[in-house]
Amino acid sequence: MNKKIVVAILFMVLFSCETTEEPELKQSTNDPVKAYIISLGFEEENIVEEGDQYVVEGDIVFAKNMQIDKRDLSKSNARQKQAQWTSLALVRRDLQSVLTISIIPGVSSGGEEIGEFLPEIQAAVDQWNAVPNSNLHFTVGYNLPTGSYNMSIRGYDLVSRCGQAGYPNPNTHTPGSITLDKAQVAALSFERRVKTIMHEIGHAVGFAHTNYVAAGETGVEIAGAAGPDANSVFNAGECLAGGGTVLSSKDKIAIRILYPKVAYINNGNTAVNTAISQDWFSPGSANGTIRAFPGSVVSVTISAYGPTSTTTIFSMSGATLSGGSNTVNVSSSSRTETFTMPASGYVTWNGSFSRTTAFGSGHISVSLL
Ligand SMILES: [Zn+2]
Repeated sequence: MNKKIVVAILFMVLFSCETTEEPELKQSTNDPVKAYIISLGFEEENIVEEGDQYVVEGDIVFAKNMQIDKRDLSKSNARQKQAQWTSLALVRRDLQSVLTISIIPGVSSGGEEIGEFLPEIQAAVDQWNAVPNSNLHFTVGYNLPTGSYNMSIRGYDLVSRCGQAGYPNPNTHTPGSITLDKAQVAALSFERRVKTIMHEIGHAVGFAHTNYVAAGETGVEIAGAAGPDANSVFNAGECLAGGGTVLSSKDKIAIRILYPKVAYINNGNTAVNTAISQDWFSPGSANGTIRAFPGSVVSVTISAYGPTSTTTIFSMSGATLSGGSNTVNVSSSSRTETFTMPASGYVTWNGSFSRTTAFGSGHISVSLL
């Protein structure tokens, strides 16, 4: 081999080694809370230090002393935006339908009295409660006894923002806390106050900002509710002006996908999963996804309809069917199995159907146990 070529190759190898080491040095942090924030998809340079908390994208707060389980950092690899599609940052299922919000009286040090905003907070909760097939249900009260509520809204002088909120606790899966700036909120119209409160409730149950790209962050969006949405109430920086004042259609879809009241089937052709059952006709096949809250137990019934000699072959990936095999063969009958939803993401399914003597159809239906 020509010596000049060897030298040139050696130089290229050294050069490329140097360039690949740079990014690793750039992202290092010894602070476990900062590392957790970065693991959720926020950029380190966008984390603002403010007293005893870190703030990202203007109003999402993380207490500097929050407990981070080291295992959470390795598990938290789902950088979902508009919301965090991970069990680490969602409210656990047994709390979802009984979320009680207490308005904290403004008697604590530096606290502002915001009891007068009860009608606005109730109106915000009413919109969340009206999302079709969402499993989240909130009630609101003023100064409720300690231990009788799982979310709080308090007043505090935030100086430059209308409100702020934390994400759900990654260890206990309880909602984050909400703070409103009394003067800033009082200056808004009733509709914009309601919007601001709906926005902060979103953070408290795990929603990020819909317009995160404009904030310079990176992330993977929720399948079925991806892309920008000018009408979303979860856009950042739209407290005083801009954006919609009611939950947008995409907001509602995102809420339903993250907190489904029932299990859903997506038939592969439909962008949004809305059905609890799916038919396909002979000869033919179908495929799609099954979505339900992480860790919930889903019942799936597979059927082969038709007079004689009908066969449905169903296969599934992403979870394990109770029968042990993820391929089920049903002839002229029905069979029900269960599976547990994975910690994040969804389950994919395939179904085929055949018949020899008559018209028929294959069918699956799902429900939560
Ligand atoms: Zn926000």
